[in-house]
Amino acid sequence: MSAQQTIHVGGEWRAAASGATREILDPADATVFAVVAEGGTEDTDAAIAAARTAFDQGEWPRTPVAERAALLRRVAELLQRDREEIGLLESRDAGKTLEEGRVDVDCVSDAFRYFADLVMNESGGRVVDAGSEEIHSVVVHEPVGVCALITPWNYPLLQASWKIAPALAAGNTFVIKPSEITPLTTVALIELLVEAGLPAGVANIVTGAGDPVGARLAEHPDVDLVSFTGGLSSGTKVMRAAADSVKKVALELGGKNPNLVFADACGTEEGFDTAVDQALNAAFIHSGQVCSAGSRLIIEESLRERFVGELARRAEKIRLGRGTETGVECGPLVSRQQLVKTEDYVASALAEGAVLRAGGARPEGEGYEGYFYRPTVLDQCHRDMRVVREEVFGPVLTVETFRTEEEGVALANDTEYGLAGAVWTADPGRARRVAGRLRHGTVWINDFHPYLPQAEWGGFGKSGIGRELGPAGLAEYREAKHIYQNLAPRPVRWFAG
Ligand code: NAD
Repeated sequence: MSAQQTIHVGGEWRAAASGATREILDPADATVFAVVAEGGTEDTDAAIAAARTAFDQGEWPRTPVAERAALLRRVAELLQRDREEIGLLESRDAGKTLEEGRVDVDCVSDAFRYFADLVMNESGGRVVDAGSEEIHSVVVHEPVGVCALITPWNYPLLQASWKIAPALAAGNTFVIKPSEITPLTTVALIELLVEAGLPAGVANIVTGAGDPVGARLAEHPDVDLVSFTGGLSSGTKVMRAAADSVKKVALELGGKNPNLVFADACGTEEGFDTAVDQALNAAFIHSGQVCSAGSRLIIEESLRERFVGELARRAEKIRLGRGTETGVECGPLVSRQQLVKTEDYVASALAEGAVLRAGGARPEGEGYEGYFYRPTVLDQCHRDMRVVREEVFGPVLTVETFRTEEEGVALANDTEYGLAGAVWTADPGRARRVAGRLRHGTVWINDFHPYLPQAEWGGFGKSGIGRELGPAGLAEYREAKHIYQNLAPRPVRWFAG
């Protein structure tokens, strides 16, 4: 594959039909470090046609499940072989630290292994008792067909794997469209799928913009399912575009995730230190560009001054820089657009009465030519502020307070989203009570951010539709079929005839 042949259709690497290209910037210094093909409608249609043919006439949907699982395991091995190279590429493309890039590759390998195991365990049908020995009734699962997979820029490879691994495990064919800002590791992953032996036409990729490439995938009648991860406004467009052809739609959208801290969690020095440390981690890892970022700290009033003071002190000490440099803890934002958006949110919060306790500006000096923004803590926030209601997707933490458990839970649920949230408390009864009442797809008790491939991930409310990972993450890519066999057919005589 040459530098600009990043479109893979029917087993061949190509440039865009129009010849257009796009420059990929290193967000640490805003310089061009790769050039990819800028696909359009023609490329998208060709990719869908290849996936359609591979599904309707190819061997993959009918390949024995053990062989499909073996291929997924091979992909996991190849990812580990190329761990350094791909981890570095992800770090550079998305602006995360090299260590985060490596961890992402490990998590991607885990996803491929998990779905290999799951599909082996769930490959059989379910026999249903039809109430007669003359009837054999069984429910089997079949692939949905051609899947359109659309992914965002913050975890490009990981989000791709949560879709590609179950789609392939179930026997589908697909066209993936990675974010135009960070397409490089997804292109690398498709190369590994080819190396692992996936038949031509099963895995196709079109690099290019949301509109036209993503929009065309969402509307095209030959696509059976669209699985989208990204922002709320693009997600609603995808859903509308998919409606005319009534394709299956799975959406993983944004979040405005509460981190609810009760004073009893900080009753000891160790408890206090842990809760502050994890609040920093919740809000600022990957510069807050995480769908489940704990961007709303909701803290018991009596704890506020001490907690926020310490949090702000530590936030100021976070070491920003290029993700590949030793000692760097946080990289830049992914793009100028994201940087400007973050600045706008902070300005609007201050205009609405928030009190700046840390950050609030770009860092100054050499080495910060890219899209850097200092970790920011905004105190005295309230539910009517834009910064509290909308997803910033930058290193901005807002602080709200509560006096009673009831009030804390109400604040934590006061969002149109419902992706994830945490409760910090030393009281086990309260922990379970509050966890039960939080309207979010993932609830952490005395922790923040971990996920497990075997546990469903997804959101309540406007955080999306459907689930990735876990058994539901595989079910998304399968159709249930009831096969009812009459072993002794005879006339029913409903019509006298
Ligand atoms: P985005 O919505 O701008 O883009 C996501 C993808 O959709 C990109 O590939 C983009 O090109 C494509 N796209 C844009 N317009 C489209 C259209 N009209 N039709 C089809 N595709 C279109 O999101 P982003 O800025 O790349 O990513 C950040 C967002 O993703 C945040 O809101 C974040 O919360 C969300 N996200 C959610 C999860 C989750 O698991 N719920 C995970 C990661 C990111």
